[in-house]
Amino acid sequence: MHPYDFVIATLIVQSLAAIILALLLWMFLRSLEHHYLKQLALAFTALSIHLGVSAVEVLAFFAELDSLVLTNMLVIAQIVSFMAFLTWLLMGMHSGLKQQPLSTSAERTIIGVAATTGAALGASYTFLSANSQLADIVRVSIPYGIAALVFIRLAWQMQSVRKQFPSMISPILGTVAFVLSGLFMLYSSATNLTLEEAARPLFQAPFVALISLMNLTLVGLSTVIWLLENEQERVRLAKVKALSAEQRLLYFRTHDAPTGLPNQRQVQNLLSQEMLRVLASQDRKVAVLALGIHRFKAVSEAIGWQKTNQMVQDLIHRIRDKLPERFVLGRTGERDFMVLMPNTRRQDDAVAHAEKILARLKLPFIHENREIFINVSGGMSIGPKHSDDAAVLLNQAHRAQLESASTGQELVLYQSFERDASSPANLIQRETELRQACREGEFTLYFQPLVGIRKRQIEGFEALLRWKHPSRGILTPDHFLQDAASLGVLDELEDQIFAQALDQLSDWHQDFAMSPVSVSVNVSAERFQQPDLPEKLIAMCQARELDPAYLDVELTENAAITDFEAGLDTIQRLRDQGIKVSLDDFGTGYSSLAHLQRLQVDYVKLDRSFVQGIEHDKQQLALTRAVVELIHSLGMRVLAEGVENRSQLGHLIKCRVDLVQGHLLGRPQPAEAFRELLQGDHLTAF
Ligand code: C2E
Ligand code: CA
Ligand code: CA
Repeated sequence: MHPYDFVIATLIVQSLAAIILALLLWMFLRSLEHHYLKQLALAFTALSIHLGVSAVEVLAFFAELDSLVLTNMLVIAQIVSFMAFLTWLLMGMHSGLKQQPLSTSAERTIIGVAATTGAALGASYTFLSANSQLADIVRVSIPYGIAALVFIRLAWQMQSVRKQFPSMISPILGTVAFVLSGLFMLYSSATNLTLEEAARPLFQAPFVALISLMNLTLVGLSTVIWLLENEQERVRLAKVKALSAEQRLLYFRTHDAPTGLPNQRQVQNLLSQEMLRVLASQDRKVAVLALGIHRFKAVSEAIGWQKTNQMVQDLIHRIRDKLPERFVLGRTGERDFMVLMPNTRRQDDAVAHAEKILARLKLPFIHENREIFINVSGGMSIGPKHSDDAAVLLNQAHRAQLESASTGQELVLYQSFERDASSPANLIQRETELRQACREGEFTLYFQPLVGIRKRQIEGFEALLRWKHPSRGILTPDHFLQDAASLGVLDELEDQIFAQALDQLSDWHQDFAMSPVSVSVNVSAERFQQPDLPEKLIAMCQARELDPAYLDVELTENAAITDFEAGLDTIQRLRDQGIKVSLDDFGTGYSSLAHLQRLQVDYVKLDRSFVQGIEHDKQQLALTRAVVELIHSLGMRVLAEGVENRSQLGHLIKCRVDLVQGHLLGRPQPAEAFRELLQGDHLTAF
């Protein structure tokens, strides 16, 4: 066989090998759908074409076919397919090794450079005479030189994969294949530049053909092995991921995500385990303390969630502070915590711990130099005294905590209160009932006159909520307000209340335009903390064409104090809009004169306690007088609440209060009850 027949034969074999490899890659692509497989398949298709064309070219050369056009076309096809091979190889290997597609801009750059180079080479070749050395440089040296760079670059990149997956053999195989191919290309490119024609690689045919066949086999083999290994690795990773997902899931099922504390489920698990130990011993007890934070929503809305998280961390820190290691703290709801106190000998010890925790939580939290107060209620149950079942014990502690919240006691021990009222079933029933009442419009407003002392005239009315209960009659707020607030029904209710109160005000203003009255509406701490309150109220006034000066918002000191600075801001914004603001129940709660100085409101409503006994207690009278004087000196008006008899009224007049409210001047009644009075001169009985 002539040596060149051998060259042509190996070129054809290589071309077939390349196309088989390409087909393999296309097949892989169909099942694996990796982005880089398509580029590699295209690369080897291009290589196959390149080799096929080369075979034809060698054939034409030695057959001494003297068609310049044909030779030129073949050479251009050779160059273009070779550049296409390099381009797709580079892109496919790069994104395959990195396991992510190249960026579009990088892809465009590579294709652009390759296309320009290919076009330039093709064009220059056609202008050169076919057999000159320069033509061979364009045809062989430059493309092979570029190929050498690409191969060495890929061999280099293989190293990072080899380090990442030391057990894989394809990176080693790939490195060898690319280094050899690179060196071979470099050698071919360089010798073509310098050697005599006869010494050029193409003319050392069989030896060179064998090497390049070997190289291609190596490249193909390593590519296929790499794909298989890659797939194995992917399956392994997927398994690891699935496993860790399961572990994470387990963690989230048993822990509160934001704080990492055990959740309700986990607390119950731990308590069950402890109960086994308790039951096995003689005198061992376990105490369960349920802690509920009040106004959590209001506070968190006021300070934002990030600060809320900080506050919760601070809270956890305070609860845990100085507690024995064996105690377990869990978070059982957004605003609920549980402390398990295992191995407790005496109930009193547990109570002492609970009281210390509650005392620590009572101290204000500092937020941007402001003091934020939260209220916390605690309930406790003891195992096995109250039950030997973990779930029941947790439930009992929770119910005791609810009882503590509604009675205002700090800590309630399970057995010490009526058991059924706050049973969960009962609570759900009450919530359903409240929501239904809300929908059915069973809530209505009664109005109680606020009377100005100087003119002895009704200046306005306080709107007081009543529930027209279908079976229990008219209920006052003390029967349902606490529930409505804790069950979240109040939010919904309060918008209705404002709407009803303003509708009534609008009616009064239309009917008695000569002497307009005002209406005062109570607003809960929760509602007061919502930043949109002023805007909402103004919009409601505008919708009814009411002057906001006739709307008065009553809030308690506690509502204003939760976040004092934010409270001041809301008050200011309400007043800026022309809405009046009253400080309700002054003299109860956190009352401090220092606070009063900073709370600029329109009216201060003295709590009934300032009025009761004023008629026969000189000290009480002196105190009330001093307080009224002080409030006046701060530029605010004073209203005295709960005035029940003439004697009280007389003393209050002496104390120079501005307004009075109470049964003496009128009980809360439906609006119609005041029609006659308002038609007349507004004068009240005294
Ligand atoms: P409050 O704001 O201090 O309202 C005054 C309460 O004193 C009313 O009780 C009223 O009926 C009662 N009262 C008036 N004059 C006298 C008197 O001469 N003697 C006595 N002993 N009591 C008198 P009510 O209507 O039962 O309301 C209780 C509380 O419920 C209110 O206290 C207020 O804090 C709250 N509340 C009432 N309506 C609403 C409302 O619409 N929204 C909100 N958030 N709270 C409301
Ligand atoms: Ca009030
Ligand atoms: Ca009051």
